[in-house]
Amino acid sequence: MQEKGNISIHTENIFPIIKKFLYSDHEIFLRELVSNAVDASQKIKRLASIGEYSGELGELKVTVSFDKEAKTITISDAGLGMTAEEIKKYINQIAFSGATEFVEKYKDKGDEKAIIGHFGLGFYSAFMVAERVDIISKSYQEGSEAVKWTCDGSTEFEISEATREARGTDIILHVAEDSLEFLEEFKLKQILDKYCKFLPIEIEFQEKIINNPSPIWTKSPSELTDEDYLKFYEELYPFAEKPLFWIHLNVDYPFNLTGILYFPKVKNELQLQREKIQLYSRQVFITDEVKDVVPEFLMLLHGVIDSPDIPLNVSRSFLQADSNVKKINSHITKKVADKLAELFKTDRADFEQKFDNIGLFVKYGMISDEKFYDRAKDYCLVQNVDGKHFTLNEYAEFAQENQKDKNDDVIYLYTSDVNAQDSFIQSAKKRGYDVLKLDSVLDSHFINQLETKLVKTSLKRVDADTIEKLIDKGVAVDVVLSETEKESVKKIFEEVINDTSKVVALEAMPVDELPAVITQNEFMRRMSDMSRAGGG
Ligand code: ADP
Ligand code: MG
Repeated sequence: MQEKGNISIHTENIFPIIKKFLYSDHEIFLRELVSNAVDASQKIKRLASIGEYSGELGELKVTVSFDKEAKTITISDAGLGMTAEEIKKYINQIAFSGATEFVEKYKDKGDEKAIIGHFGLGFYSAFMVAERVDIISKSYQEGSEAVKWTCDGSTEFEISEATREARGTDIILHVAEDSLEFLEEFKLKQILDKYCKFLPIEIEFQEKIINNPSPIWTKSPSELTDEDYLKFYEELYPFAEKPLFWIHLNVDYPFNLTGILYFPKVKNELQLQREKIQLYSRQVFITDEVKDVVPEFLMLLHGVIDSPDIPLNVSRSFLQADSNVKKINSHITKKVADKLAELFKTDRADFEQKFDNIGLFVKYGMISDEKFYDRAKDYCLVQNVDGKHFTLNEYAEFAQENQKDKNDDVIYLYTSDVNAQDSFIQSAKKRGYDVLKLDSVLDSHFINQLETKLVKTSLKRVDADTIEKLIDKGVAVDVVLSETEKESVKKIFEEVINDTSKVVALEAMPVDELPAVITQNEFMRRMSDMSRAGGG
């Protein structure tokens, strides 16, 4: 048997286009070919389970190997294989995806979710790194002969007889001169680790199995212990601190989504922790740029999201507009908010303790997402300088009762630096006022947000110039200075400050150990704090 033919495509020179533009990242050729090998293995399993294949299944593993001298990379599977007819149909017809047809045919017979490919372009990504590709394949069907297909990346191909004893397929890439970097062990290992770590069929490279075929996100939460979740976290982030808690996502409708989101201890910084969530589609790693799938503030979380409904290989702007992505986005937000509510309800003391580590995250969510604000406002906690936690409602109630100023407005006093503002804190406390500790990088934005949400309430830092409007609750004020003394003290301060934009005013303070305090204008200071904190 010897046959030559032409690949049926409408554009003569589609290969250069594929090569340059299909995927910006050439390394994903391996992801595509290994995924196809995994698909082929899943398919033979399926055929066996529905009685369409009665032979031995044997060991279903995918082997990736390379030969530096021959300049080849080979991906072998023991999947269902292809006949010459099938190769012509599935491989030659670009954009005709065999996977789609397979799913169509068997969709009522099992879960078609297990099949990865449905784009029909994956195989051709091989030509991003190879100048010639051989396929040697033997179909599972009775009496099938092994066949070899060869193509050098032009629209011409060749099919001939081949020798292969066992069922399955070898894809042999003859690596092009400009892609020799892929003939290195560390490089291939690195790519496999990145994309294939959780593929559902064992992948062997250099005589070792490099993947975990059943990662815990594919299992039911009822089968899993806390230890399983912690172990998996360690597998994902070997050197990270233990997470605080996690959410196991499992949605069937109106989209498919599984995954586990971990809450790390969010330190008092927001930048360094992003890009920890990994996005998968049917256990194939896609990206860790989850920007459009996960709301901005949830990017502080760690873990994996797996959804066959997230369109791959498409541009960012398309992703943003995709309706599934939008649904997924709001679903995740809701799940996270619900989980926090549940933790708050079941064990308040524990929640208070955790809040030290997740408070920043919760506030970030409340600042950046109205819907999240509405969900989180019931359990978002504030803490006073004595370490006592309040919900926003509890604090509002407390303040209504106890914290009015001379104008009868409700005020919350807060400190942004417990040590530096200690004398002001003491002064406020002596007047009978509580002081909140709002000292995180986001708090200047959070304070603003609170003021827009709370009725007739304002927040003042303890050293604000409005502090003298507080009512002294039975605390005697010692006026230690006479008017002339005041004048001369004022002068001294003005000279030292040496800034005519700053007004020096002397007020009687109720605290005898403080002969003088310097206060600031709340509004002006807050503006400059916010521009320093950035964003929001
Ligand atoms: P997709 O995977 O999206 O269907 P591909 O271009 O990756 O598109 O592959 C095209 C088709 O070629 C597959 O759907 C499948 O029918 C066939 N194919 C590719 N690789 C293999 C393989 N290793 N074993 C069996 N069939 C394969
Ligand atoms: Mg594919």
